[in-house]
Amino acid sequence: MKRDILYVDDEMENLVVFQATFEDHFNVFLAESGAKALEMLAERSFPVVVADQRMPKMSGAELFEILRRKYPHTKRIMLTGYADPRAMLSAINQGQVFYFIKKPWEQEVVFSILFRAIEAYDMSLSNLMLQDRLVAADRCAMLGRSAARLAHEMGNQLCMLPLLELIEDEYSDQEDLMQMAAFARSTHERLVEIINEVKAFVRFEREEMVTGPLALSEVVHELVEFLRYEQSVPADRLSVQIESDPRVRANRVKLQQVLINMLKNAQFAIRDCPEGRITLSVSADENHAVIVVADNGCGMSPDVAERIWEPFFTTKGDEGTGLGLDVAKSIIEGHGGTIACQTAPGAGATFTIRLPILESTSGGESRPANPGAAALPVEHAAIESQMHVW
Ligand code: ADP
Repeated sequence: MKRDILYVDDEMENLVVFQATFEDHFNVFLAESGAKALEMLAERSFPVVVADQRMPKMSGAELFEILRRKYPHTKRIMLTGYADPRAMLSAINQGQVFYFIKKPWEQEVVFSILFRAIEAYDMSLSNLMLQDRLVAADRCAMLGRSAARLAHEMGNQLCMLPLLELIEDEYSDQEDLMQMAAFARSTHERLVEIINEVKAFVRFEREEMVTGPLALSEVVHELVEFLRYEQSVPADRLSVQIESDPRVRANRVKLQQVLINMLKNAQFAIRDCPEGRITLSVSADENHAVIVVADNGCGMSPDVAERIWEPFFTTKGDEGTGLGLDVAKSIIEGHGGTIACQTAPGAGATFTIRLPILESTSGGESRPANPGAAALPVEHAAIESQMHVW
């Protein structure tokens, strides 16, 4: 691929000759003054700027002094018709120029200097990227330490199990209470698993993933129940469609973790849309269980969509960590599945997970996430009414 070079000279003849000499190897852009060069640099970045020293209004050295501050990575090459060794030396020492070329210049010499300048430019950019990575790694280590502390603290707070056992012993004849206790127990188990996962991650252990055969309808149903109490995704925005009930081999908690993250992302995407809706659907094709989380929210530009699977990539500022989709992808791939996203700006986003199927039970079922109280199975209505008492 040809690289861009900007050549600045006030003499038209010189511009034409330079372009004709190097255009086979570089995209040569031309500017007839320092001011014009600055205009062009504001529009696009150039790895290399070559300038004549002697120009009216703004000399090559004056132009380079501005470039040094505004575009420090751009390599600056000075063409000069006369040699003043002291001036050259001090310009080089002040870091103003990458190279001086004395006129009349020789094609081969300039050619190799241009290549070296581009190499040096690429190198300084990759250094910059490495520095960024080091900063990210530092942040990651800090995050790890905080996560470990947090997981430890949270673990200490999870002391409600004996209380639950007490309730189960004392009130075993009260069906409603038993259902609430069972719900609390499964939430407790979910928390313990998540905390252990964080601890294992921080200790750089590869946690063994326990999987078993699961009916996806149950996984989704349990998740929707959980969301009703947790309330991060309002039930009136979410509809759930179980078109078939495929079974997969999976880890229930991890699968739910993936779905919760995607539903929360969808909720974030529709937060400013009064007509915003989220659909969570389960279906199957011949070999795969298919879970789709779709929303009609803000959607994503191609630039964003390309980066969403990167760790720490977030557009939510302090509200996001940028880890959700990275973790989701590794969980789904750890299950032998795939996860993909289709989106466009303003057109919402559709995330599709495909998991190898174990078997499929046909018979469609479609259940809104916010069934009215009358439509609720009795036990759920009871849970809801007693939540306030609890
Ligand atoms: P976080 O939610 O902490 O930002 P994620 O990895 O879950 O981290 O998501 C990364 C980014 O992907 C989000 O910051 C957002 O820009 C984009 N994204 C994810 N889901 C959606 C969605 N449903 N609609 C629009 N953008 C989304």
